[in-house]
Amino acid sequence: MSQTRRIALVAHDQKKDDLVEFVREHEAAFSRYDLVATGTTGARITEACPGLALTPLKSGPLGGDQQIGAMIAEGLVEAVVFFVDPLTPMPHDVDVKALMRLAIVYDIPLALNRRSAGMLLASLPGA
Ligand code: PGA
Repeated sequence: MSQTRRIALVAHDQKKDDLVEFVREHEAAFSRYDLVATGTTGARITEACPGLALTPLKSGPLGGDQQIGAMIAEGLVEAVVFFVDPLTPMPHDVDVKALMRLAIVYDIPLALNRRSAGMLLASLPGA
């Protein structure tokens, strides 16, 4: 499987402000990676940190989570930061589960909240 320097970023609506703040706080570390993000999350991050190399995918409910899952299956993602909202029902809950499942299957580090994301980022080589 190919070595990659790519991090995938996703945040549910109630968590987008948190993720944008987290990325801003760790902009120097994130600048060492290619970033991919679901559509709305990616737009918010790019607006806040226009210097980052971020490729926006489709919006999560329209297939963005599955695009990230496919990238994981192809060995193209080194880590996933996914700020989930556990308090709101999601129409695309199955996609969220599928993404998490593939991260587990391929043993890809997956941070689901801010503290674990900080730990994950600090543990990545070169971050
Ligand atoms: P979004 O998708 O960044 O396009 O809002 C995130 C999600 O809900 O999976």
